[in-house]
Amino acid sequence: MQILPTQNSLGISTYQSVEDNNDNMVVDISSDDENNPNLFTKPPALLNTDMVSCYANSIVQSFLCLPEFRFSISKRNTALNSILNDIMLTKINSTLKVRQLVSGRNGENFAVNQQMDAQSFCQSLIRRLDADDFSIFIKVNGHELLNCQNCNINMNENEQIIYTHFLYFPENCGNLIDFNSMLMLKDSDRLCLYCNNNLKTRSVVICHKYLVVCLQRIGPQGNKINTKFYNFASESVILDEQIFRVKSVVKHHGNTIGSGHYTSIVNYNDQWWKCDDNRITRMSGFDNTLEDVYLLLLEKC
Ligand SMILES: [Zn+2]
Repeated sequence: MQILPTQNSLGISTYQSVEDNNDNMVVDISSDDENNPNLFTKPPALLNTDMVSCYANSIVQSFLCLPEFRFSISKRNTALNSILNDIMLTKINSTLKVRQLVSGRNGENFAVNQQMDAQSFCQSLIRRLDADDFSIFIKVNGHELLNCQNCNINMNENEQIIYTHFLYFPENCGNLIDFNSMLMLKDSDRLCLYCNNNLKTRSVVICHKYLVVCLQRIGPQGNKINTKFYNFASESVILDEQIFRVKSVVKHHGNTIGSGHYTSIVNYNDQWWKCDDNRITRMSGFDNTLEDVYLLLLEKC
């Protein structure tokens, strides 16, 4: 007779083994898999009892789909990693503590009882992980390409670290994503050395492995751009002449980015899952009708 343990009993037994075997509470997730095969077979369910946590849940669930991320949090013993580890081991199922720790660094207060922009939370979380000396594989180098349309010359500005790469909607872009058409040239405040013409700029991304892309859905008047996209393949996102595959999609449903609801679709253990807070549903394949896509977590091929 086969006895299937409940999620609760798994959680308790894991907690005890952590207490007994490891003084500093760092758990090796990679080796836990064998002992508790049911524990990590799907993304963690995260409660949204305060009705505002969905923006943070969708980001945390997206990051936890990355094997390197799960491995790194198990190896580091900081307050933030400890909480993320507890979420991974389903000892806690709320992101409230993560939100509290991420708050305050850059003036954003994610601890308030108010729905926030998932993109801002994502940036702050990566910055905070960076401050904890986390092995960042999501951080990307970017530099600005400055272009003078008079002289037809391009110049590179100094390299900088960027966390989220913004893509802007071209006018009349229709419902097909052409990612390269979203790398628009923007007016710069700098002038050309040769002709004093206003330079145009766009950021160029050098990504090691993972890249967070934000489809900029906040319009000039603060309105949400509701362009719907259909039919893009999860394994062939071409951006800046580099090929990426989709690891996770954060969707926003609603009329303003700070209200409505956030969900995510994550590729976890080679399966596609829909994460709607604590409702985790296995999908038969990649949902290519990503009408409400807001953030994409991409892996470089
Ligand atoms: Zn010029």
